[in-house]
Amino acid sequence: MLLGAHESIAGGVSQAFARAEEHGARSLQIFTKNARGWNAPPLTEPERRAFRAEARRSGLPAIAHGSYLVNLGTEDPVLRDKSIACVTEELTRCERLGISCLVIHPGTHPDEKRGLALVAEGLDEVHRRTPRFRSRICLEITAGQGHCLGWRFWHLTEILSRVSREDRLGLCLDTCHLFAAGYDLSSEEGYEAVMAECDAAVGLERVRCFHLNDCKKPLGCRVDRHEEVGQGTIGRTAFRCLVNDSRFVNTIGVLETPSPERYAEALRLLESLRRRQ
Ligand SMILES: [Zn+2]
Repeated sequence: MLLGAHESIAGGVSQAFARAEEHGARSLQIFTKNARGWNAPPLTEPERRAFRAEARRSGLPAIAHGSYLVNLGTEDPVLRDKSIACVTEELTRCERLGISCLVIHPGTHPDEKRGLALVAEGLDEVHRRTPRFRSRICLEITAGQGHCLGWRFWHLTEILSRVSREDRLGLCLDTCHLFAAGYDLSSEEGYEAVMAECDAAVGLERVRCFHLNDCKKPLGCRVDRHEEVGQGTIGRTAFRCLVNDSRFVNTIGVLETPSPERYAEALRLLESLRRRQ
């Protein structure tokens, strides 16, 4: 696994690479714009060039995380239009920056089936607006808080079966969300069982990236609270399994833990869990 962390873009997206290097990361995740607002100043050509130069210089692969405001599962036409426009804009930024994956949460809706159909329609519309893009959307497994969709593997299977371009979609597995959703990967047997279930439902080759977070709350709580790796209810075993899993040698795995000041320490811990060959 290519271990890294979610890095700040303060001062411009190109600044994230130096931060990742300081943390000892081998990959990184960024927001391509403010994740808590709809609007953002356009990505300028000098900033695009600076980002590409930094990506080449550092050799670190980057993925992006989308806005938290987006809801492709909504019935509200205004929020729906804004969400589709926002994902389109973020995917366009990824394409211009050479970022392979944009991670988004599927959306929320009180009726699962109806919500999943709306998410699939929304993704189809984004894909229609971004023909021939190489950057792909990765749907993230969620903790299942409230009416959040995407906390069961079958939700993801359902979306994939409904979209017209499933070849343009990847998946992102967040360890905290999996555990909070009731997938117990805290033991070796549990880890293998969860991966087998994921493989049967959506195919592990579709998993493009991981979010490496421990969980503050118990198994199946359906509450999304990230904890420092190894210090939560998941514990180290799951992370040991992940960093040694030969299926994910070249897969990006990034921390989204509460304190960036502790990224370096957490990355050292994860590296230390690798079995010496
Ligand atoms: Zn995550």
